[in-house]
Amino acid sequence: MAEPTMDATPTSETAMIDLDQLPQRAEKNISVRVKRAAERALRQGHPWVFEDSIVKQSHLGNGGDLAVIYDRADNNFLAVGLYDPLSPIRIKVLQTLQPMRVNQGFFADKLRVAQAKRQPLISAETTGFRLVYGESDGFPALIIDRYGNTLVLKLYTTAWIPHLRALILALQETVIFDNLVLRLSRALQSDRLNVAKLFGLRDGQLLVGDDPSGQVEFVENGLLFQADVIKGHKTGFFFDQRDNRSKTRDLAKGRRVLDVFSYTGGFSVYALAGGARSVTALDSSEPALETLKRNVETNGFDMDQVDVIAADAFEGLRGLIAAKRKFNLVIVDPPAFANSRASMRNAVLAYRRLVEMALRLLAKDGILVMASCSSRIKADMFYQLVTRSAAVAGFELETLERSSHALDHPIAFAEAEYLKAIFAKVSS
Ligand code: SAH
Repeated sequence: MAEPTMDATPTSETAMIDLDQLPQRAEKNISVRVKRAAERALRQGHPWVFEDSIVKQSHLGNGGDLAVIYDRADNNFLAVGLYDPLSPIRIKVLQTLQPMRVNQGFFADKLRVAQAKRQPLISAETTGFRLVYGESDGFPALIIDRYGNTLVLKLYTTAWIPHLRALILALQETVIFDNLVLRLSRALQSDRLNVAKLFGLRDGQLLVGDDPSGQVEFVENGLLFQADVIKGHKTGFFFDQRDNRSKTRDLAKGRRVLDVFSYTGGFSVYALAGGARSVTALDSSEPALETLKRNVETNGFDMDQVDVIAADAFEGLRGLIAAKRKFNLVIVDPPAFANSRASMRNAVLAYRRLVEMALRLLAKDGILVMASCSSRIKADMFYQLVTRSAAVAGFELETLERSSHALDHPIAFAEAEYLKAIFAKVSS
């Protein structure tokens, strides 16, 4: 499953926080020595040092202190990162080989680079995108998404907290925005985490600005979308599928489209824009489907063309099969089924069932768009899984295209790659 939910509970508190109240990192850095293999990985640019790779450290330190790793052979600087005693990824690397001071200026430089990388996609036609994608942009375990004038900063570790003030100042120095909303990963919201470790930070809190509503509007490839950046999944929208939505628009003309795991209608709206004859959107989240309706209407399309089914996807699909419904384009974009090694088997079974059911709903010459965002299921394995599941169910697929991340989700190391999608035509 992806992130917590768009549920109907009252909005989280959005009172601003006094950033000066947040803890500072210790003046004294932690000096660390790591195993040879870990040194090699660091030299090759890998941004994680696992707990069991550490052979020696000067003192215990606190979360967010800077850990400086020295080469065991010559004592030269190897890397500096955030010390994270709560995570097996004990050091999250910020900088390798060239020593640098980690401060506002350091973050500002990285933000400028990140912003420049996104330049090709920023325009009046696209005002929503991922500005910072974690490690791949030099900000481990942290994401910043832009929705028009609102930025959403999502933390996956408390180790950023002592650096938050410097990071926000760096954002104000380099990026134009009105509001900054904080989101916390599921782990940071878990009861297992001592809330004292959050120093008063809360999921959905407004860190900068004066719009506490969480409702934002943005444009993607000329289409208008609304998102709820406080209660929505992840940060409110799935920018990673932008290119796949675009391809879907190109394929949609005259087709009856089924959008499974539709969320707020990213694919549905693109399909309508591409001239789909009708769209059926299926998702278990009622608030997401409410936003889908608004997204359909604000783009000038008629809800008469759209059927909305609020149900578990597997049950919804079974119902459509029983009703002998047929579609010419079926999109299946499920949440990450394989979040742990143990859930891999169930994930494979779930993908198999989804492929089989989607194919049973496709008319002759229909197109299947199937995506996976489980990073544990590698691209090749996924493509094989889809083709084999189709074959077992008696269908032959002709692959039209395979695709990966959009430009604003750069892949700087293997673990950063998670999204893959296949576009395929059913040939028999
Ligand atoms: N395609 C969407 C993103 C999908 S995110 C887009 O382009 O924006 C995954 C969606 O799956 C979420 O909306 C979540 O509510 C939904 N979901 C998760 N488990 C589900 C289930 N068992 N049945 C139906 N929907 C489910």
